[in-house]
Amino acid sequence: MNKCIFCSIIKKEINASIVYENSKVLAFNDISPISPKHIIIIPKIHIKSTNEIDQENCHVISEIFEIIPTIAKKNGFYNNGYRIVNNCGNDGGQTVEHLHFHLLGGRSFKWPPG
Ligand code: 5GP
Ligand code: ZN
Repeated sequence: MNKCIFCSIIKKEINASIVYENSKVLAFNDISPISPKHIIIIPKIHIKSTNEIDQENCHVISEIFEIIPTIAKKNGFYNNGYRIVNNCGNDGGQTVEHLHFHLLGGRSFKWPPG
């Protein structure tokens, strides 16, 4: 595996503004936010993208989603709502090859995104 920036954040080799952590998942502020609140949530095990989700590792999805309401409450956008985004592969706009979800709050978003 090439050096993975999100694995380096998990190992605390690279600094990040961590907003939530437990034994399975890590959440931190995006370095280039596109909304007032822009939080990245990752599993602590390296999974390249949604394409690599299978029966054995799919527990990470519920571990991530389980903590989203808590993060939304802590960051003040639970009541107004938020958007969750996962980019997969080139056409999906994925730039970091470690499965992650963008949790976007603090403003309204259009649908469809355009
Ligand atoms: P993707 O485009 O792969 O869905 O999203 C990757 C996200 O990770 C981008 O929004 C980018 O700003 C963020 N990101 C990339 N490198 C770093 C970093 O070193 N620290 C933090 N906090 N965010 C990063
Ligand atoms: Zn990784």
